[in-house]
Amino acid sequence: MPGSVPRIVIVGGGFGGLAAAKVLKNAPAEIVLIDRGNHHLFQPLLYQVATAVLAPAQIASPIRNILRKQQNTTVILGEVTGVDKDKKCVFVKDADRTGVPIPYDFLVLATGVTHSYFGHNDFEKFAPGLKSLADAVSVRNKILHAFEQAEAEEDPSRHRDLLTFVLVGAGPTGVEMAGAIAVLVRNTLKSEFRRINPEKARIVLLDMAPRVLGTFSEHLSQAAKARLEGLGVEVRLGHGVDQIDADGVIVAGERISSQTVIWTAGVAPSPAGKWLNVTTDRAGRVRVQQDVSVPGYPDVFVVGDTASLDQDGKPLPGVAQVAIQQGRYVGNLIHRVISGKSRPGPFRYFDKGNMAVVGKGFAVLQSGKVHLSGFVAWLAWAGVHLQFLAQSSLRVSVFLQWVWTYITGQRGSRLIVNHHGAEPRTQVAKEAQLELTSSSK
Ligand SMILES: Cc1cc2nc3c(=O)[nH]c(=O)nc-3n(C[C@H](O)[C@H](O)[C@H](O)COP(=O)(O)OP(=O)(O)OC[C@H]3O[C@@H](n4cnc5c(N)ncnc54)[C@H](O)[C@@H]3O)c2cc1C
Repeated sequence: MPGSVPRIVIVGGGFGGLAAAKVLKNAPAEIVLIDRGNHHLFQPLLYQVATAVLAPAQIASPIRNILRKQQNTTVILGEVTGVDKDKKCVFVKDADRTGVPIPYDFLVLATGVTHSYFGHNDFEKFAPGLKSLADAVSVRNKILHAFEQAEAEEDPSRHRDLLTFVLVGAGPTGVEMAGAIAVLVRNTLKSEFRRINPEKARIVLLDMAPRVLGTFSEHLSQAAKARLEGLGVEVRLGHGVDQIDADGVIVAGERISSQTVIWTAGVAPSPAGKWLNVTTDRAGRVRVQQDVSVPGYPDVFVVGDTASLDQDGKPLPGVAQVAIQQGRYVGNLIHRVISGKSRPGPFRYFDKGNMAVVGKGFAVLQSGKVHLSGFVAWLAWAGVHLQFLAQSSLRVSVFLQWVWTYITGQRGSRLIVNHHGAEPRTQVAKEAQLELTSSSK
């Protein structure tokens, strides 16, 4: 033991890791929470940052601030790069050191997922995904920049390509993004440009699956598709994307020219399985036991998106509720063990249901036998999302922004922010930059 009380190392301050840390607030233990970012991110609202409804600071909070009253918890900004489960320590890379060992008595890995391009990593350059705040700001830059570039472009034949937005993947993120872009062009931007008509923007949602929102009932999928089409979104299903490059995408042999392609499809788990050198499922998620521990290592737990656990013969989905419930369960289990009590019964996920929003004032909701679509579902969606934001200040700020956006159509954060200086987006812009450089020599 590193000290007089056991040390619980939690890696990841997302939904699972934070839930575990909070449950342990009164535990007689030293808790060390390590995250490579300084903030807890509410990923379900990332698409609203990417489409300029909300500002980044409205959906994320510093982990240190969330846990400031928890005296037994230390927050470390660092990236875990490996685990030695026999010596019981994790290795951390921080600002100026690598491989710093941090010993543990109990370990909780809650390191989530990253994008997966299904073996086509070359697509990433042209079709950014949406997983972090930086991704959301970069997608927002890309979308807003497309309108600016089209307005500046004298040749109207180029407007069509510049104002074509392609979303690859019709799960909740793709559907929500497509709906939000449709509302952006119809409401927010409609009277601000002189050379282009933003309402003429083409929004294309692609998926190889036969329907949108495949995890929802057939009836709700159809309601979401009909709503998207009513907003002017082209929904093209049943074909995978063959190619994504600087000129757009090729799907079912047809090229869709576009300067703005966004990847809203697959995800891959963190390398937790490799660090632990244990059995994983086909996707690479760590196979955990019914108490969410790693086989053979009762003091090591993996929770949330990077864990694989079946319930009633089906794998648990990669959603926030699974991560939160597993995090709480593991926190409670560890608290009981260090208090000399017996381990609890197996983990059981309680499915509260699924929701997805489709444009303004419309959502689909599926919870047990309740299947709803429309405004009431949207109100439920808004209430649930507000409730799960990490801090009350965010709840107030997001609520006010939503009311303002609902009434006026105006969005909260329509800024193009280039953190690394202006980057030319197209060949034309690159050439223009070259010309400027050579003429200034
Ligand atoms: C765009 C988007 C929309 C979504 N919408 C919904 C929705 O509407 N409803 C829903 O239920 N779910 C939704 N999800 C899924 C949900 O966000 C995840 O299921 C949930 O975040 C999983 O929680 P987690 O704790 O496993 O991982 P995360 O919440 O992703 O947290 C992982 C944490 O680990 C940290 N980390 C990763 N690797 C390391 C490392 N090596 N060292 C240190 N720290 C590390 C990360 O910085 C992060 O803070 C959405 C996800 C995305 C991306």
